[in-house]
Amino acid sequence: GPLLHAENLHKTYRSTPALEGAGLAISAGEIVAVMGPSGSGKSTLLQCMAGIVRPDSGTVTYDGRVLSELGDAERSRLRRADFGFVFQFGQLVPELTCVENVALPLRLAGRRRRDAEQAALPWLERLEIAGLAGKRPGEISGGEGQRVAVARALACSPRVVFADEPTGALDSLNGERVMELLTAAARQSRAAVVLVTHEARVAAYADREIVVRDGRTRDLESSR
Ligand code: ADP
Ligand code: ADP
Repeated sequence: GPLLHAENLHKTYRSTPALEGAGLAISAGEIVAVMGPSGSGKSTLLQCMAGIVRPDSGTVTYDGRVLSELGDAERSRLRRADFGFVFQFGQLVPELTCVENVALPLRLAGRRRRDAEQAALPWLERLEIAGLAGKRPGEISGGEGQRVAVARALACSPRVVFADEPTGALDSLNGERVMELLTAAARQSRAAVVLVTHEARVAAYADREIVVRDGRTRDLESSR
């Protein structure tokens, strides 16, 4: 069955309905684009699937476990160990160099500095930013920063990468480069990718697209 499966999710923020019966199943190694207009519920769907937001009803099953049935500590342990995240703005730690940023999740997982940074370097190479290892986020471009964010998301060998508008702040050339590198790295590590985007040319990198409208999902096409 699917590695990650959201079924019939409902979520209302105060009086604003965000999800009204959304669902998505994703298999290991699969890249799925979640499309739809602004405010349709894409980010809320991603956050429910990542165990960040608790749906009012419906279930998210990851690797045979229902996320809402896990304790908070177990859920955050799982998020840290099995999931990687890329957001619209890289959210890099400004005080840390690029290699330190990529190594940070490994440090937080308990690895020693030298060991974590050694493990981070091949990811910088894979994202073609090895030359930036010693620079800080303030010294690099937006596109380079997103590549650092992708390297950081992949460095702890996640089984699922959640990418929410990862190219939203980039021009189209840099956006396409980030998508090429993100999808190549994810395919190489057989990670599933939940890719939230409102741009068709970004969604084109996925194996499959679904559309969210008014909090409900539907398949756009079964496969490419
Ligand atoms: P999308 O990612 O498609 O733009 P979102 O999931 O961010 O959609 O938002 C869906 C709806 O839920 C919108 O009406 C949005 O304003 C609302 N919403 C999202 N997050 C919150 C929040 N933390 N508090 C209140 N309303 C929210
Ligand atoms: P050390 O044992 O060397 O102090 P730490 O794990 O405390 O190692 O921190 C290593 C580096 O990562 C430090 O520069 C620290 O400021 C930074 N760091 C650790 N945790 C976080 C975090 N959650 N957010 C940002 N920076 C962090």
